[in-house]
Amino acid sequence: MTDPSIISHQTNQTPKAIPARADVVVVGAGIIGTATALFLARRGLSVVVCEKGHVACEQSSRNWGWVRKMGRDPAEIPMAIASAKLWAGMNALTGIETGYRETGIYYLCKDQKDIQKYEEWLAFAKQHDLDSSLLRQSGLKERFPTLKGHWEGALFTKSDGRAEPSMATQAIAASLRTRGGQIIEDCAVRCIETAAGSVHSVVTEHGEIRCKSVVLATGAWTRLFCSNLGIDFPQLKVIGSVMRTQRVDGPPECAVAGRDFAFRKRLDGGYTIAQKNANIAQIVPDSFRLFFQFLPAFRSEGNEIRLRFSSQFFREMNTPKRWRSDEVTPFETTRVLNPKPSEKILSEGLSNLRKVFPEFANVKLEESWGCAIDVTPDAVPVIDTVDDISGLVIASGFSGHGFGIGPGAAHLVADMVTAQKPIVPLEPFKLARLRKLAVSSMEKARG
Ligand SMILES: Cc1cc2nc3c(=O)[nH]c(=O)nc-3n(C[C@H](O)[C@H](O)[C@H](O)COP(=O)(O)OP(=O)(O)OC[C@H]3O[C@@H](n4cnc5c(N)ncnc54)[C@H](O)[C@@H]3O)c2cc1C
Repeated sequence: MTDPSIISHQTNQTPKAIPARADVVVVGAGIIGTATALFLARRGLSVVVCEKGHVACEQSSRNWGWVRKMGRDPAEIPMAIASAKLWAGMNALTGIETGYRETGIYYLCKDQKDIQKYEEWLAFAKQHDLDSSLLRQSGLKERFPTLKGHWEGALFTKSDGRAEPSMATQAIAASLRTRGGQIIEDCAVRCIETAAGSVHSVVTEHGEIRCKSVVLATGAWTRLFCSNLGIDFPQLKVIGSVMRTQRVDGPPECAVAGRDFAFRKRLDGGYTIAQKNANIAQIVPDSFRLFFQFLPAFRSEGNEIRLRFSSQFFREMNTPKRWRSDEVTPFETTRVLNPKPSEKILSEGLSNLRKVFPEFANVKLEESWGCAIDVTPDAVPVIDTVDDISGLVIASGFSGHGFGIGPGAAHLVADMVTAQKPIVPLEPFKLARLRKLAVSSMEKARG
């Protein structure tokens, strides 16, 4: 099974027929956008999703496919729990295979430092009655008899699992269409027009759609889109590298991560493999603009990031930050972000994995790919309304873990649009927290 997003995308320049109006326009057909639209369509609203490329062309089809509650930021645990319930019913809801399976996830602990870190996290898990627990050496050996090297134990959650990124968003999109929702591909949204402080319409490259609400589910493009609205959305991109193997029998059915490798079984019998904690951050003008906001994250996770200076700096420097609705926008000149994977990071990851799980010694690789991951300064997404533009909801910045919490996040967005009781509290996802973080980080840096 080939991940569809990896096939290069041909832009269709033919003008498209678009509807004159809709209750809600969703910008971006990743998991957040399509699932939000599905929940809204189920509530009887007319919904149009505009996607500059094609369904799940960026992060939502390129990720590892882990659906986990384990190790989540405490702010995200309720959403992860709500999402797990929604994933469990997703095949039935869409009537299509999403690849969701409850297979369990393990985080191996190399030393006492890892054990202590996970013990601290378990205190949060207990507050939510999660089935996470710490296995010690003997339990680990029993679970993985072939495991090589010294391991102190593992954090384990039986009710965590996986879904297939190449299938899940497509399934949600197909289900949306059967419920009357429209998805228009090759249709970049250029601008949001307002009247008297409220959303009036979106202007796409194919024309205008009148609407009362807009959901911005634009992934790695959100900062740029927001710049044209005069909103400073603090977000950077890092490049992840992933590979998949041919079908192989022998390695575990569950998903496992050590400090420097990660794998999970795929529905096609192969494995998706990556090096954990190894992403590339390209140095771009925003790296300097957002320096103080991201400084605490860089201090705590800097060893997971490999900095690179490349022509991307000048590309982003020359990318317009403001445009008019009759101008061609950056969303049209770059339809799909398709960065090259780092073969070095991947071969290190595979070699690290083979040292621990010898079952992978002879696996044959099928494909590798790269992807830009959108990150916020505290690695928690923003799901929030905007003071000056009534009817606009931003849902972005999922920081490398939005696939698992995607359905819960989308449900929350649908709750906000339809003014229903939110499925989880809104407070942790407000944009204002990042502004406070920026101020305190700057004050600390100044001493
Ligand atoms: C390598 C990697 C591994 C990951 N592993 C996991 C994992 O195991 N578990 C997990 O939970 N999460 C994981 N993630 C994170 C997860 O994939 C993302 O958080 C999630 O897919 C984000 O979904 P999204 O809909 O917000 O963004 P996206 O899927 O990126 O979708 C945004 C869409 O918006 C479109 N768009 C942008 N601007 C416009 C515009 N102006 N007009 C029209 N369309 C527009 C884009 O083309 C894109 O299709 C991983 C991510 C990566 C890259």
